[in-house]
Amino acid sequence: MTIAAVPASSGEQGEDRHLILVAGGPSHATGEHEHRAGILLMEQCLSDVPGLNVSAHFDGWPDDDTVFDGADAIHLFMDGGGGHPVIQDRRLELMQEHIDRGVSLGAMHYAVEVPEDDGGEQFMDWIGGYYETHFSVNPFWEPHFDNLPNHPILSGVAPFSVRDEWYFSIRFREDQVGVTPLLVDAPSDDTRDGPYVYPHGPYDHIVEQKGKSEIVSWAVERMDGGRGFGFTGGHFHENWGDDNFRKYVLNALVWLSGLEVPANGVECMITEEQLQENLDR
Ligand SMILES: [Zn+2]
Repeated sequence: MTIAAVPASSGEQGEDRHLILVAGGPSHATGEHEHRAGILLMEQCLSDVPGLNVSAHFDGWPDDDTVFDGADAIHLFMDGGGGHPVIQDRRLELMQEHIDRGVSLGAMHYAVEVPEDDGGEQFMDWIGGYYETHFSVNPFWEPHFDNLPNHPILSGVAPFSVRDEWYFSIRFREDQVGVTPLLVDAPSDDTRDGPYVYPHGPYDHIVEQKGKSEIVSWAVERMDGGRGFGFTGGHFHENWGDDNFRKYVLNALVWLSGLEVPANGVECMITEEQLQENLDR
């Protein structure tokens, strides 16, 4: 008998899919890296999706690791690098255990960055790639996502353009095996010339690739049945106000959970007031 995670259609008999959202602690200035407020918006917007049970945890990591036991998908929105909550203590091993049972994993903005020698290999396996310091870059720029591929995560999403700290030159698996590019655009020459947010650069390998398209969000279907999702935007909280940006991420979380994304995508309107709620400071 196989225990591989077989995607269920929404509305089918069976247990709800369980998605766990994990928000990092306070970081940056008001309106930037608003992990808690962003996760609360995602949780609220997904609350009416049939067949989906969402729970959210804050301040970097759940107090009790057993909350992951029933998870079908886990999504991380938190600061990364050496302080990434997922590389602390023995959490990489914990996460590996869940990955091995077919759990899907998403990571958003700084959460896609882990040290090369401490999580890099795992992220490449789990979600297809990661932000590698001095190889990847993090300038602010405004891509135009005009050519959207046919993928459930793009359901109901129209071409859009949003200014964000869209990381690129992600360290993907060799030959990008299994990586499906979803949001792609070519940064301008100015963007490649820098300065990047940190370190400022410019790097020769980035400048030399002028004109080349870059992947800033992608999906992965792992051999173990689990799925992976990477999204490098998410610096500015106000970007949740963009209907296509928001729908794109919500669709991704439904897809990550193994459910069918509605044909028109996840509909969730939010107000200006909602965008001001729950900010860290
Ligand atoms: Zn940022």
